[in-house]
Amino acid sequence: MKSKDTAFIYSPLFQQYKFNNDHPFNQLRVELTYDLLRKMNAVNDHDIVAPRMATIDELALVHDRKYIQAVELAGHGKLNEDEALNYGIGTEDTPIFSNMHEASSLLVGGTLTAVDLVMEGKVLHAANFGGGLHHGFRGKASGFCIYNDSSVAIRYMQEKYHARVLYIDTDAHHGDGVQWTFYDDPNVCTLSIHETGRYLFPGTGNITERGAGKGYGYSFNIPLDAFTEDESWLHAYKTSIEEVAAFFKPDVILTQNGADAHFYDPLTHLASTMSIYHEIPKIAHEIAHKYCNGRWIAVGGGGYDIWRVVPRAWSLIWLEMNNIPVPSNLPENWINQWQKQAPVTLPTKWHDSEGMYKPIPRKAEIEEKNALTVEKALHSIRPSKE
Ligand SMILES: [Zn+2]
Repeated sequence: MKSKDTAFIYSPLFQQYKFNNDHPFNQLRVELTYDLLRKMNAVNDHDIVAPRMATIDELALVHDRKYIQAVELAGHGKLNEDEALNYGIGTEDTPIFSNMHEASSLLVGGTLTAVDLVMEGKVLHAANFGGGLHHGFRGKASGFCIYNDSSVAIRYMQEKYHARVLYIDTDAHHGDGVQWTFYDDPNVCTLSIHETGRYLFPGTGNITERGAGKGYGYSFNIPLDAFTEDESWLHAYKTSIEEVAAFFKPDVILTQNGADAHFYDPLTHLASTMSIYHEIPKIAHEIAHKYCNGRWIAVGGGGYDIWRVVPRAWSLIWLEMNNIPVPSNLPENWINQWQKQAPVTLPTKWHDSEGMYKPIPRKAEIEEKNALTVEKALHSIRPSKE
């Protein structure tokens, strides 16, 4: 049984969550991350815990049973196209693939495995990079996501452990599925820092989305302008996570770590570098120890430059969880092993080199606008100046 402070949830079966060869969502990035950490000896046999499958009853903590049944039928070729479309499956974004129910249940089960280890005190921190499917809705698939592992895990933590959960989502896309699931619940606080929905899927995540009914005031959104760079992104992240954690005082944090805010990401328009991925886990780690006796579950999420960005970004989370210093170079044997397969030149260092992109002409304007967004989003939890 686990006796160290951290757990790495992993199975080669995560690869079974696969839409098709041309689809941008590619779980090979989990394998690339795992292999990178293995080759650094940062992940060892005793760190690894295999994910279990989520049960139907667990999925039904959040998802409609009719939807679960539809996913099951679709994955076995037994659902007609029209009916599938009612559930958001069989679209260009979220096509049907064989055994999609089983593959999706394993990703959810991985996050539940992480949750049990942390909540039972067997480890302080646990990571499931196979999870983070934040666009899954109660009765509908959306944006590459079938079941929402974070939503299920949060409901599970509420029911089994009576925990107050702070969900922090740094994916470049708004964490809509999780937000709407807990929109009227004052015992779950959601914070999403993302590219504005003006030009990007899913279009929501405005600062005015603050919750409903008893849950009003427990949903926070920081929509950032396109071409936001490191400094402005980090200002928004640090300020909001610190103030929201101080306000909510969670028992546990669940961080969704989509790695698609990077300049290289082909689906989004933010302009961050690896620097933010060095800082994100450091601050999450501090918050976990300050408020939650260390209880921290990290999941993956988006991330579509699977070669240059995601393996480094996710490895940095694990290194931070284990207080392993970041070396300056990536292991050569990792580069040698994967370069043949990669369509781009793999990075050799943990930080990006300067001059990756041309200076952004609207820099000052973007920074000013983002600072104002942070002000407005956190206004209600700041002490009044009067
Ligand atoms: Zn994303």
